[in-house]
Parts: sequence; structure tokens; C-alpha cells
Amino acid sequence: MKELVVLVICLIQICVAFPYHGYRVYEAVAKNAAQAQALSDLEMSELFDFWSPVRLNKPTDIMSSPEQIQQLLDVFNSNSIQHKIKIDDVQQLIDAQQNHMGNEIVKQSSSLRYNLTWDNYYRYDDIREFAYALGASYPELVTVSVAGKSYEDRDLILIKISSGGSASKNAIFVDGGIHACEWISPATVTYIVRELVENYAAHPQYVDDVDWFFMPLVNPDGYEFAHTDNRLWRKNRRIHDETNTTCVGTDINRNFDYHFDEGGSSDNSCAPTYNGGQPFTEPESRALRDAILAEANRTKSYLTVHSYGQHWLTPWGWTTELPADYDAMYALASDAVAALTAVYGTVYDIGSSANLLYANSGPSDDWAKGVAGIPYTYTIELRDQGPVYGFLLPPDQIIPSGIETWEAFKVIAEAVALME
Ligand SMILES: [Zn+2]
Repeated sequence: MKELVVLVICLIQICVAFPYHGYRVYEAVAKNAAQAQALSDLEMSELFDFWSPVRLNKPTDIMSSPEQIQQLLDVFNSNSIQHKIKIDDVQQLIDAQQNHMGNEIVKQSSSLRYNLTWDNYYRYDDIREFAYALGASYPELVTVSVAGKSYEDRDLILIKISSGGSASKNAIFVDGGIHACEWISPATVTYIVRELVENYAAHPQYVDDVDWFFMPLVNPDGYEFAHTDNRLWRKNRRIHDETNTTCVGTDINRNFDYHFDEGGSSDNSCAPTYNGGQPFTEPESRALRDAILAEANRTKSYLTVHSYGQHWLTPWGWTTELPADYDAMYALASDAVAALTAVYGTVYDIGSSANLLYANSGPSDDWAKGVAGIPYTYTIELRDQGPVYGFLLPPDQIIPSGIETWEAFKVIAEAVALME
């Protein structure tokens, strides 16, 4: 639906910032199979934007344009589906957060070598600057490189954190920002980078015992577009057809070559989950693939950070069958989540993505496990659970998200350090 409205706006040659005035998000709960089917049919119609999947007895967040609210309510009412308003006016919430951010972020002091303070969401340039500033200040720990270029020619930054020693040390690979609108992801990932590096002296074992690789913003083009044009943009910004500048972008997390296009992705380039038509059509997914493969033989855990829903997910997405070593994956996830929850009581559920959420094929985690052979591969869906903000998580939750997620990452690192 968003894309259709963007189409209208762009047809008159003024691609203004995408307005969500009067857009409303409802939370609906399907209590039986018939109600779930009614919601699934609604999702298939592509008339509404589903922020979260349809699941029995779980909330599903559905965004409607003002013109279609009555149609949505009719479906709820004719199927007796329990529902409530979750966000009354999406644009109001976006505006409130942008006002909070301010437009001019001033460098805090001459001692800070970068802008990031984790009390706001920052732009691509700030994240890039942060990486190079750490590299310049901590050359004994941090190596920054360019893993590739985005479609719009932005550097895809790769941060290696290592205190040296054996090049066969076990490693952890982390990425963020595959989906453009999930701003809490790169914010949390950079928070953890900072914790490992700037607080190294407080807990050197987390760097001494494992090497880390971070790609904090896999999809910088989409991320920038979400800042400048459409806050809820998901895909990258590749133009598939020069004569059609509206159905732009591929879902990078449906573009990996493992059981590609076997459900839960779209062949329609206008769709938010467009898989690209073929595997690895996107420069961002290729760069991520190559960066992972370069260290795959010693990488024991791949953590791909998304939002929202508070889920700690294992493969697979393409089948509800579980990986052969699921019990071990589940056990480590349980320990990590317990440490996370202990901080503020934030609850995560754990399970395979096809079982817990929905079928999805071509995501990076399935490929990382199925092809790159990384055993402890997880997709982490950060805050919130959706009762309030969904993708529009307020910036005052960045630091709490960073603090609690760091506790989970410590558990992963401790386990990885001991793996054969
Ligand atoms: Zn995502």
C-alpha cells in the first residue's frame, strides 16, 4: 500500500517526505482458525501493511490508510475479531520522534570523536564516522574495512574487533540494519561495538577469547531513505526497471541462496518482501555473503539483528522442520535470553522462525547455517513486543536495548570461546 501512495506522490514529480497522516495501526488477535484465515486473506490482498505476522492468539499489527480504516473494521467486525487501536496517527508519532531528535546534532565535546550518543537515531554518515573513529583511537583492537558498496554507492562498513593472537580464534559475526525501518537494530549493534571496544578494560575476555565481525548497517540506502522520505521503508533502493521508479528495492533478507523463493517471499517487485527474482541480485546481500564466508570456518555464531517483537529465532524459515542440532541452539538461546531478561524483565520468546512467526525463504540466517555452516545462527528481533511502538521505537529505549542485548551477547561469547 505504501508503495502505491509513493507512486501517486512521485507521479507528480515531487517525491516529498512520505506522509502517514491519519494512518492508523490496529492490533488484532485471531482466536480461532477462521479468524486467522480472515486476517491472512487480508494480508494477501496487500491492501494493508502488516507490521507483524498473523498467529493464533497473538497480536497482529496492521496499518491502514485513513481511507481504508472502515474496510478494515468491517473485516474485524464481520469475523468478530478482537481489535484495538494501537497507534492512532502514525505521522504524529513519527513527528514527535523527529522533534525529539532535533535537526542539528552538535558534537558533544572535543574529546568525543564521533556523534553517536545512543540517545537518538543517527544517520549513515554518523555510523560510518563512529567506526573509523574507533579504528583511529583503538588501532590495537579495531580494524575497519569496506565489505562492498551499496546500490547507491555507499561503503558497507565492516568492523573487526580483535586483540590479536591466533587467526584461528573462534569468531562471532553480527549484522544490523538489513531492514531499513528497523532503526533500533544498527543503534543496538553500534552500542555493543562501543561496549566491546571502549570498555575493553572492564571485560577483556570478551575480546581476547573471540574475534568479532560487525556489519552494523547492511542496507544504508534504505536506511537513509527511511530517514529522508519514508520512515517505514524496508527494502534496499535498487531500481529494477528504469521505466518504473516506484516499485523499487529488494528485501535483502529474502535474497540469499538457500531454499530461495520457497514461500514467504514475493516475486512482485512492488512488494515489501520482493526477493529480487534470483538469489544474490543485490550488492548488499553479496557483500554480506562474502564477508561471512571469509571467516566462516571459524565463525561459531552469526547474529543478525532486526526488530520488532522480542523474538530470539533459529533457522529455518523455509520449513517448519527443525535443524538437527536445534536442541543445542535452543539451549544457548535460552541462556542468552535469560541474561537479557534479568536486566529489565524484557521477555523474549525462542523458536524457529517458521514455527514462531511465519514461513520466509532466502533470509540470511538460513543461508548462514545451511550454506556457510555456522552452527549458532540466530535472528534477533529486538524491542518492542508491539503493544505500543513497533518499528517506531522511541530513542529513549536505545540504551536499555543496548544494555540488555549486551548481556545476551556476553553469554554467546562465553559459549563461543569454549567451542571446539
Ligand atoms: Zn527485519
